Amino acid sequence: METPGNLFVVAAPSGAGKSSLVKALLELDSHLKVSISHTTRAPRGQEQHGREYWFVSLDEFQGMVERDEFFEWAEVHGNRYGTSRIGIESRLMSGEDVVLEIDWQGALQIKQLFPYAVLIFILPPSWEELAQRLARRGEDPPEVIAQRMVNARHEVAQARHFNYVIINGLFETALFDLKTVVHSQRLKYAAQRRAKSAVFTALDLG
Ligand code: GDP
Ligand code: ADP
Ligand code: 5GP
Repeated sequence: METPGNLFVVAAPSGAGKSSLVKALLELDSHLKVSISHTTRAPRGQEQHGREYWFVSLDEFQGMVERDEFFEWAEVHGNRYGTSRIGIESRLMSGEDVVLEIDWQGALQIKQLFPYAVLIFILPPSWEELAQRLARRGEDPPEVIAQRMVNARHEVAQARHFNYVIINGLFETALFDLKTVVHSQRLKYAAQRRAKSAVFTALDLG
């Protein structure tokens, strides 16, 4: 599908800093909009329905699957997560850039649907640091953290399918790297031609 907007997909093992990086990026970049996923997981302390996620029951989620309302969905750490179709296509068509914060299984499904999606994988600097961040975040019980650490081994092995890898050691460095990926994507010839079609037409570049 040809759209003037760019689609970015960010994946990472839980605790690597994906949400913090995307949130900081959105504050710097008003052309970028994040898609809010649906999930069957319970909200954490400060999370709000419609802000971090649309929190739904398993029945509601299954209803959406049956009505084919998701671009992609996956089971992650025992819960279901999905990207609904509503909103994304219309935003891309209107020239807005969209970022999806989803797991690697969803990222690979999106790449099949949108071959030009830019896939970005965030790695932690070490296993020790990942465990410390999950503990420091303090939002998940120890058994959930343990399960996420086990799953992380398999998740990081998927980084090789992604277009870019960002190591989130120093936060400001990783944020700069993420901004750079978004910026360079926007400057590619085909992306410029789609986003700035009036200029290209005026210059007889059609
Ligand atoms: P590259 O190897 O990443 O440069 O990919 P291509 O040369 O095949 O495409 C050129 C650029 O156009 C790439 O940056 C693509 O991401 C982008 N692109 C092509 N078609 C679309 C589209 O329909 N939507 C979006 N969002 N980007 C597109
Ligand atoms: P994810 O969305 O990948 O699960 P979060 O963005 O929630 O991860 O980050 C996990 C924890 O690590 C949070 O407490 C966050 O403040 C912290 N964190 C994120 N990036 C860094 C960093 N570069 N250095 C230290 N702590 C970080
Ligand atoms: P968390 O519960 O920590 O917010 O997210 C757990 C995992 O589910 C993360 O890997 C996150 O990227 C993934 N996730 C969140 N939303 C979606 C989604 O819409 N689709 C898919 N496939 N994964 C998602």
